[in-house]
Amino acid sequence: MTTVPSTPTSDGLAGLSGLGGAPAGLPDVTLLAQLAGEFFAALPSGSHDARLPFGAPPQPPQTELALANRAPAIAPAPARPAAAPDEAVDAATGTGRAANPVYGVPEAYAAALPRVESPEPPRGPSAPSSPYYFLGEASAYPSAASTASPAPSALPSHKDASPDVPEDRVTARSFGLPGDADLRALLAGLGDGRREPQAPPSPSAPAFYFLAPSHEEAAPAIGQSPRPAFDVQAVRRDFPILQERVNGRPLIWFDNAATTQKPQAVIDRLAYFYQHENSNIHRAAHELAARATDAYAGARNKVARFLGAAQTEEIIFVRGTTEGINLIAKTWGAQNVGEGDEIIVSHLEHHANIVPWQQLAAAKGAKIKVIPVDDSGQVRLDEYRKLLTSRTKLVSITQVSNALGTVVPVKEIVAEAHRFGAVAVVDGAQSVSHMRVNVQDIDADFFVFSGHKIFGPTGIGVVYGKRDILEAMPPWQGGGNMIADVTFEKTVYHGAPTRFEAGTGNIADAVGLGAALDYVERIGLENIARYEHDLLVYATRGLLTVPGLKLIGTAQDKASVLSFVLEGYRPEEVGKALNEEGIAVRSGHHCAQPILRRFGQEATVRPSLAFYNTCEEVDTLVAVLKRLAGNTGRNAR
Ligand code: PLP
Repeated sequence: MTTVPSTPTSDGLAGLSGLGGAPAGLPDVTLLAQLAGEFFAALPSGSHDARLPFGAPPQPPQTELALANRAPAIAPAPARPAAAPDEAVDAATGTGRAANPVYGVPEAYAAALPRVESPEPPRGPSAPSSPYYFLGEASAYPSAASTASPAPSALPSHKDASPDVPEDRVTARSFGLPGDADLRALLAGLGDGRREPQAPPSPSAPAFYFLAPSHEEAAPAIGQSPRPAFDVQAVRRDFPILQERVNGRPLIWFDNAATTQKPQAVIDRLAYFYQHENSNIHRAAHELAARATDAYAGARNKVARFLGAAQTEEIIFVRGTTEGINLIAKTWGAQNVGEGDEIIVSHLEHHANIVPWQQLAAAKGAKIKVIPVDDSGQVRLDEYRKLLTSRTKLVSITQVSNALGTVVPVKEIVAEAHRFGAVAVVDGAQSVSHMRVNVQDIDADFFVFSGHKIFGPTGIGVVYGKRDILEAMPPWQGGGNMIADVTFEKTVYHGAPTRFEAGTGNIADAVGLGAALDYVERIGLENIARYEHDLLVYATRGLLTVPGLKLIGTAQDKASVLSFVLEGYRPEEVGKALNEEGIAVRSGHHCAQPILRRFGQEATVRPSLAFYNTCEEVDTLVAVLKRLAGNTGRNAR
């Protein structure tokens, strides 16, 4: 099977075109509405309104009616029109909600249905008119070169923020910030990760850039051009799980390096797939097969565009980063690495970027070489250059360290590898959700990431490979889908990418990943990176005020991760204490034992940030840590 081109008429929207009026064969709509109302009122899930603040009492279910695409099936209408996916867009841009409150029903048909009235909010420039906002697969790949996110100037100004946003709410703003210089100043000379306790950042007097609207005028004008607002509260409303309470407290999810939470848009897209498109992907077989095939192909297009790949065929779906690196080791590696050859990795690597190469080296008699890091946790390019030889066949490097947060200069590393004729693999598991990645700009031969680390489902990931390299690689697994012809004598394989996707793939989750990338793109990677950087600076400042806390990893270029140890406590004790306060962090070795041991640790506590985290959450973390640090009566060990 070769890659199937998508067409706008066949991506699942096609089924809607016949629904201009009440479809023949449907029961009376008033009766349907009444029955549906009674039915869903009885469902417990109808009682939760994700727009409500923490701890708000459950609300009575609303009796909105949702009809499925084409089939007259009735689906529970979420109390939140957010199910209506436009809201994801709206949160990102601060504009209104979906125009059609009857989720799942085409406009003309919906007009005949009972409606729950709500004021018509203003629509942003990017808000799609269809409630099926997540069905953009067919047009997802306008050009190979196009990797641009929505231009920041297209975003509304702070004053245009959603009418849902209370006027007095503290809104994170990112303009006029010290930026990199600030993190560098904070971490410079902090070789041992410690600093004398300082005055804590005060939530009541927002530190430098997190300003309530009324403080706007007082913003330090460090940058001349104001940046667009980042409405973190609006973003948070897109993530239903952030309304959870843990141990009686609002959940604070600081375990984003392990996995990220999912926006409603992704949850809805998965449900939509199973409600309207589910089939194996054999386009010609029947209507649902065509829908599923198009949705899957659309997801591949989205990934290609997201990564800046030159061609859709360069995108292989796998289970995740781990499987992706194994694929490369067992195909390209098995074919190209021989006895006496050398593979270079860095000291920072996750086990997923060590073990497959060790296995390959053991099988082939090859050698692993390791780029050392300096005391801040940054790779030493000078030492790297010394490791490269004519025997170097492959360099595999992480773009962001999951254990320390170090942002690695992968472009330089790839360029050096190429000078020696080596192939370069970039592990993007921790980078794609925090910064704009363009594989052509990096010039990586392979780039790998996991969907679940970028707000998509688990069990889906991506290997990007340059087309000419992929076409020369043998398959690694054999079976259906990846073959052009099979006899008992021999098999002829398809080209890339299907040659590497034997068997039935994870179709629904690939589609869900596409929705996650759409979501991230709507917010804009640049906006995300800026906001997260500011939050990282804020959190770093806060942690450095905790007596006895030592940061592990103080590189000047960091993203998301704040690894630390706290004097008198084992990391798991800190993790437990934080969990009691509803704060989720990882404590342990983070599947990166070599780099922790490089810093004399077997484990650390690792809060890791995403763009839905807030200063207030950081303040809570710092307060709990200070309480622990001040718990002098305790004998920790
Ligand atoms: N590489 C890095 C840098 C990671 O952080 C992780 C997961 O934490 C992986 C690889 C493995 O990813 P997965 O478990 O999704 O395959």
